[in-house]
Amino acid sequence: MADKVLDLEPFTFAGVENKRPLIIAGPCSAETEEQVLETAKGLATQGIKIFRAGIWKPRTKPGGFEGVGSIGLPWLKRVKEETGMYVATEVANQYHVLEALKHGIDILWIGARTSANPFAMQEIADALKGADIPVMIKNPVNPDLELWIGAVERIYNAGIRKIAVIHRGFSSYDKRLYRNLPQWHIPIEFRRRYPYIPLFCDPSHIGGKRDLIAPLCQQAMDLGFDGLIVESHCNPDCAWSDASQQVTPDTLSYILNMLVIRETSQSTENLNELRRQIDELDNQLLELLARRMRVAREIGVYKKEHGMPVWQAARYDELLSKRVEQAVELEMDGDFMKTVLAAIHEESVRQQMIIINQ
Ligand code: PEP
Ligand code: MN
Repeated sequence: MADKVLDLEPFTFAGVENKRPLIIAGPCSAETEEQVLETAKGLATQGIKIFRAGIWKPRTKPGGFEGVGSIGLPWLKRVKEETGMYVATEVANQYHVLEALKHGIDILWIGARTSANPFAMQEIADALKGADIPVMIKNPVNPDLELWIGAVERIYNAGIRKIAVIHRGFSSYDKRLYRNLPQWHIPIEFRRRYPYIPLFCDPSHIGGKRDLIAPLCQQAMDLGFDGLIVESHCNPDCAWSDASQQVTPDTLSYILNMLVIRETSQSTENLNELRRQIDELDNQLLELLARRMRVAREIGVYKKEHGMPVWQAARYDELLSKRVEQAVELEMDGDFMKTVLAAIHEESVRQQMIIINQ
């Protein structure tokens, strides 16, 4: 079934130049009135027009800093009055929505833990009925495109017409390079299905580290994203949440000035985008191979403990013929699949031999 076409208003703001990338920046959390104002002024000096700050923070475990709550909302009002910036905050339930609307917040965003929960999304949508406020919807923590789209539809059905989405990566058990795996193919597929919905990238929550902000911003720009939402704090090392991924307003400005923004209509852009997809898929292949080797090593331990031989011909033959059949079904050459599997199997055996001989 074709996707419903959403009749949206442009995601633009009076006084904010309508060019790529649209930048939203500010601290992970509003901590104190001074920290909020100092950060906002630093960002305003760098030409940033939209300020973000979390008032209510969804934390993995209780006992962490869960946000200052409603007392922080007047601080954001001061940001508006003293810098002329628009202000944005995260809402996760009906109470947050009502409080944010009451205090004149300009833009709301919905976090990844919330967009993963249809009950929470519906509660927020119901609270938004009749309101006229732009809403940005982060991808759910799990890589489920339909769930993301469902969250967008709930907000749309509530009558909201200024909608954007934010790609912030996806949770995984293996946290290595990224805090949240980018899995770029998911936002790319979102873009393919809803080309008119502005797509933002949140490099702070994808990377989890300052050093990754610049390359992730560039990658998002090369993939045709419309905007960036980046965490920036006047004193990042002392931030009460997400300290390792925040940068000062000056550093942020430096990062943004270094970005190369290529015209999306340029013919090489398509090629670039396809190559990015290939890179991303190769990364996933490597990740999968590494996981497979880990399991193979565990099997090695089992075989050692039970005095079994490493090489088990029947199992290998069965695996080979099954996979070759699958490959052919997936329009790949059977011999090609044999070569790939033989190489993988050889490396698994090598790794198991090391374990057996330890
Ligand atoms: C945030 O933006 O500070 C935040 C909590 O993000 P996410 O929902 O992407 O984890
Ligand atoms: Mn954060």
